[in-house]
Amino acid sequence: MEGSDALSFKCNAPGCGREVGECCLTSCSHVFCMEHAEQWFSSNESCPVCKAQCQIKLVDFSRTAINDRKQMSLIGFLPNDCLEAAMGSLEFWSFQKIQELRDAKKEAQDERASKRRLEAECRAALSEYENKINSLSTEKENMKEELREIAKERDHYKELYSKKNRQHSKLEENYRQLKARMMGGGRGNVAGGVPGNVAGGVPGNAINRPALGNGQAKAN
Ligand SMILES: [Zn+2]
Ligand SMILES: [Zn+2]
Repeated sequence: MEGSDALSFKCNAPGCGREVGECCLTSCSHVFCMEHAEQWFSSNESCPVCKAQCQIKLVDFSRTAINDRKQMSLIGFLPNDCLEAAMGSLEFWSFQKIQELRDAKKEAQDERASKRRLEAECRAALSEYENKINSLSTEKENMKEELREIAKERDHYKELYSKKNRQHSKLEENYRQLKARMMGGGRGNVAGGVPGNVAGGVPGNAINRPALGNGQAKAN
């Protein structure tokens, strides 16, 4: 829109604020863009801003229209009429700007409030997560401790197992030796033990004796 600046008029519909050209002006001095005017006044007779029962008329606040209009609009007015018209125009402009400032202030307040709410929510979420982290960290420490206990127990059983294993090997070795002795020694006793005594012992003595006798005889 031409001549767009902070001094020009904006739609007063809550949340709109678009700069107006052809628009709707109420008898309570509020201005609405065509879209909001049609939306509201097709089913309402009061002003959506100040709730006053109002008359509406179409006006054109675009710079082109104003430039065309201002050439002739005060022609025929006496100086007093000119001043009154200028006063009315200035009052309307100040009324609109004060309203815009009030709206901007309210919007800033709402934004600050929503920022504070958001900050509080973030802080709450943060502290909730911090608590969760702390409890998880405690749980981790506990599990680590438990793991250390289990490892200790495992080492103990490992030690016990290798001890038993050593005992088992020793027993096995003993058994093998015993078995070997039983096998070897048993055969020796049967073949060379007692019969030895029978075949080699006494006869041996009998054989040895004459030998000794021979020896002694030879020695003698
Ligand atoms: Zn609007
Ligand atoms: Zn109004």
